[in-house]
Amino acid sequence: MKLDKEILHPSHPQHKLKCEYTQIPFNCDGCKEAGIGHKYKCDACEFDLHRACALAPPTIVHPFYKKCNFRFLTRPPGPVMRICDACRKDVVGFVYHCSACGFDLHPCCANLPQVLDDGERNFHLCMKLSSSCHRCGGKGQGWSYRSECKNYILHVACVKELLVESWQAIYLNVDKNKVREIQTRIPSLKGTLKNHHRGKGGKVRKCCQIAAGAVRIIISAILGDPTALIAAAVGSFISQSR
Ligand SMILES: [Zn+2]
Ligand SMILES: [Zn+2]
Ligand SMILES: [Zn+2]
Ligand SMILES: [Zn+2]
Ligand SMILES: [Zn+2]
Repeated sequence: MKLDKEILHPSHPQHKLKCEYTQIPFNCDGCKEAGIGHKYKCDACEFDLHRACALAPPTIVHPFYKKCNFRFLTRPPGPVMRICDACRKDVVGFVYHCSACGFDLHPCCANLPQVLDDGERNFHLCMKLSSSCHRCGGKGQGWSYRSECKNYILHVACVKELLVESWQAIYLNVDKNKVREIQTRIPSLKGTLKNHHRGKGGKVRKCCQIAAGAVRIIISAILGDPTALIAAAVGSFISQSR
């Protein structure tokens, strides 16, 4: 995706939006979902947009719905509450909607990479679960990421839930100094993770290491920026608190 330094967006016509990088989570004023990393921001107002929301093309085709023509809308259509078919969360702002089938996708969900690489293994985006999700233990609806070995599966929805929980713990309930503290601890987190399951047997330990890596990389993708550093902190926090 091409990154313009400054854009004028129809949802905020009064000011230009500047591209900025943040390690502090923000709330996107377009899709109303959480974000991190690159965002488009108005300096004069508290107004932020995900990169995917700011630069959303008017129509897209998604590999999971090859026959659908998704149109970008700034509000969900019709009087009925819409749910994102990827993450199963309510759609309250920007959305891609197929009027023929009624499918809805948050812009960030529509942009989820088909393959994620955590450095050791690939995770593939799947429309349906072949076995149980590691977080909820179910095979419920919504998209998931599955490791190439097929041993590790996480709903996109479940990762979002984890994210909210951990943000409440590490961000919303603590002051900004604490967040900074967490960020500066990032390089040491890998070591912490490896020690976490010492003594519980090789198999468990290996599984949890996969879990941490998977959660980290999936979080980054869901928040719309795979390069964002805090995803590492959040991912580690999650796997420690389980
Ligand atoms: Zn957004
Ligand atoms: Zn403004
Ligand atoms: Zn359709
Ligand atoms: Zn979604
Ligand atoms: Zn799940």
